[in-house]
Amino acid sequence: MNLPLETADLVVVGAGPAGLCASLEAVRAGVHTVLLDENSRAGGQLFKQVHRFFGSRHHGAGKRGFVIADQLAGECRQAGVEVRLSSTVLGFFQGGELMVDAPGGVYLVRPRAVVIATGASERCVAFPGWTLPGVMGAGAAQTLVNVYGVLPGRRVLMAGSGNVGLIVSYQLLQAGAEVVGIIDIADRVGGYEVHLERVAREGVPVYLNHRILAAEGTGSVESVLVGDAGGGKAYRFEVDCLCLALGLSPLVELAAMRGCRMVYREELGGFLPWHDAWMRTDRPGVFVAGDAAGIEEASVAMEEGRMAGITAAEELGLLSGGRAGAKRKAVQRRLEGLRGGPYGTGKLAAKVSIHGD
Ligand SMILES: Cc1cc2nc3c(=O)[nH]c(=O)nc-3n(C[C@H](O)[C@H](O)[C@H](O)COP(=O)(O)OP(=O)(O)OC[C@H]3O[C@@H](n4cnc5c(N)ncnc54)[C@H](O)[C@@H]3O)c2cc1C
Repeated sequence: MNLPLETADLVVVGAGPAGLCASLEAVRAGVHTVLLDENSRAGGQLFKQVHRFFGSRHHGAGKRGFVIADQLAGECRQAGVEVRLSSTVLGFFQGGELMVDAPGGVYLVRPRAVVIATGASERCVAFPGWTLPGVMGAGAAQTLVNVYGVLPGRRVLMAGSGNVGLIVSYQLLQAGAEVVGIIDIADRVGGYEVHLERVAREGVPVYLNHRILAAEGTGSVESVLVGDAGGGKAYRFEVDCLCLALGLSPLVELAAMRGCRMVYREELGGFLPWHDAWMRTDRPGVFVAGDAAGIEEASVAMEEGRMAGITAAEELGLLSGGRAGAKRKAVQRRLEGLRGGPYGTGKLAAKVSIHGD
């Protein structure tokens, strides 16, 4: 099969906050940058997020996610990034070519450097009835509500009290669903106080030390059986939707296919490509950034993307060592600030342990 073959200085896979910021840094240094994303809109997770962002002002705190996405995508286009949407990267081969499925057909591109910024996938657990229609990831429910304007159910039970579980519960309430409760196997709420307060104000109860025993129904979910963690009491919730917000795992398939060395860090979501503090993997010219390099937040993804874009531009000979070093220092300072709080210290320790691995 003879496929068309293109060349580029840099290809960035994934137009979420990490990929957008990597592209911006690279193109501003004069790198011919192609940004690919499977969606028809740039922004990654951000374009689904209608809530005002937490994090620092520098990273758009207080703005809605889709506004931040549109701003970054606009800056990229203005700076000259070739943004190609509806373009899915199917493979990343040992010779360095990427195979892309785009509206005009399948083609290959052989860039001099690649930033993998593919984000994350939702975690699932298996339990009786987990394949019934109406059982879905919280991210899928968020996409249905915020992108397609479709309510995934009228009465919803949320499993998982991290930020994603809390934020999506609130968005479901705003969209008109009844959230009958949030359960979590842990003995404390995983998400930020500010998100918990919002759902608590709406009267949504949180059941800690509880787990799903089964989803029940004929044809679709009609109820969910929940038990306390000690194996004592069991409760039945009459619902037509069970949302699972059980954490995210880095999307590492392309890095694995290219032969990047993988490491495992529970605090960062599981397996991820080994990388150093400059976001270089062990494969020359291959960088990783954002959730694909360990699950954190959009603000961290932006900074890791910047780090990858700066280092790629330096390695491609378009940014001097001095300039790149100064830019990296500024990014490093901001990353330390973002990981300085109580939620960030475990992630920081895990990251540092990878760099020295
Ligand atoms: C409900 C929810 C609320 C959140 N709220 C906040 C918040 O308030 N503040 C905050 O800082 N963070 C928040 N986050 C986290 C934040 O959204 C993520 O950390 C961030 O989006 C990660 O950025 P990324 O660029 O690494 O990945 P993503 O944003 O996931 O972008 C990756 C992109 O790559 C594309 N892609 C993947 N594989 C391919 C392929 N093979 N070919 C082409 N394209 C591909 C994906 O479709 C996607 O568009 C929230 C997350 C969720 C789920």
